Amino acid sequence: MQFRDLQKQYQKLKPEIDKEIQQVLTTGNFISGKQVNELEEQLAAYVGIKHCITCANGTDALTLAFMVWNIGQGDAVFVPDFTFFASGETPAYEGATPVFVDVEEDTFNLSPESLEQAIIEVKKEGHLRPRVIVAVDLFGQPADYTQIRKIADKYGLLILEDGAQGFGGRIGEQRACSFGDISTTSFFPAKPLGCYGDGGAVFTDNDEWAELLRSYRIHGKGADKYDNVRIGMNSRLDTIQAAVLNVKLRAFQEYELADINCVAERYMQLLAGLVKTPYIKEHFYSSWAQYSILLKSEKERNGLQTYLKENGIPSMIYYPKPMSRQGAFQGMDCKKVALPVTEDLCKRVLALPLHPYMEKEEQDRVVDAIQKYKMLQK
Ligand SMILES: *Cc1c(COP(=O)(O)O)cnc(C)c1O
Repeated sequence: MQFRDLQKQYQKLKPEIDKEIQQVLTTGNFISGKQVNELEEQLAAYVGIKHCITCANGTDALTLAFMVWNIGQGDAVFVPDFTFFASGETPAYEGATPVFVDVEEDTFNLSPESLEQAIIEVKKEGHLRPRVIVAVDLFGQPADYTQIRKIADKYGLLILEDGAQGFGGRIGEQRACSFGDISTTSFFPAKPLGCYGDGGAVFTDNDEWAELLRSYRIHGKGADKYDNVRIGMNSRLDTIQAAVLNVKLRAFQEYELADINCVAERYMQLLAGLVKTPYIKEHFYSSWAQYSILLKSEKERNGLQTYLKENGIPSMIYYPKPMSRQGAFQGMDCKKVALPVTEDLCKRVLALPLHPYMEKEEQDRVVDAIQKYKMLQK
């Protein structure tokens, strides 16, 4: 059994993907081919945002946003304690201080209460300027942007939506990657919309920022590539990856997103009462980057992972360690508030196999194994 079955997806899309890749090979426009522009237009239309700027990966997408906002030394960037390393790594790389904020127990997303507490604490200390809130759409569910926006407005902060796992999710009719002042996503193969290597994108409605993003991603270009008006980076999306994504985005819209929601819904029904299943807020729609259950204790979680492995079922722990405990952030003054929820989640969380091409029989095997494990424990 595969955790996320990318081979099965390829088998289904093979004729179209092979044809599109072949076309790039034939024309030889490996960098900035027309497929890149086409993809950017499609993505912007899908998300409902004026500008989409693709780049080399989701980490660069975050970095590009920080560059546009001139985030650096002396700035505080508020980041959830429960997320992938890049969310906190990128502001630190720019010289800013990531200040970790606890998450909600049920959605695993940024806690508005903890956020406000952290902002107040930073202002009280007076060493750092509060600048940006990084809100992560963890495991596919958008963060609570109504609450987060209120806090951002109250304290004059910018919102950076890290939608690396959130592409395809929505709140009501508004899609993920449209909630931030700038929003980003990743096309790493296992993300909700993935390519065949690294890839990423930045979204914004702001014309000025969009122009800066287009410049920063190609060596700070001015009128052309050999007119360099600022220090930038080399962070383009390859034409081949754009060609793959053009095919995959169609499948994503036509059936993949709906199908993965069916699989997740079926897990909800079959696992109810057995383990704590993920909680999706009312009017929120997840793109299910992960299906993460909670066990009662670290012992029960680790035991279940071992038991599943013995039965040929892969599972993953996202994330085993709070950001604030990562060695890289030690000595950086990142901890301003207590982070008990993240501490607890890291011990009890377990992600189960999930993808749009998952068969009922495979899913039944996962559920059966969890049932048996729970019985053995009694
Ligand atoms: C995957 C991920 C990233 C980084 O994306 P890459 O394309 O791997 O660089 C950033 N933030 C979150 C929350 C992620 O899950």
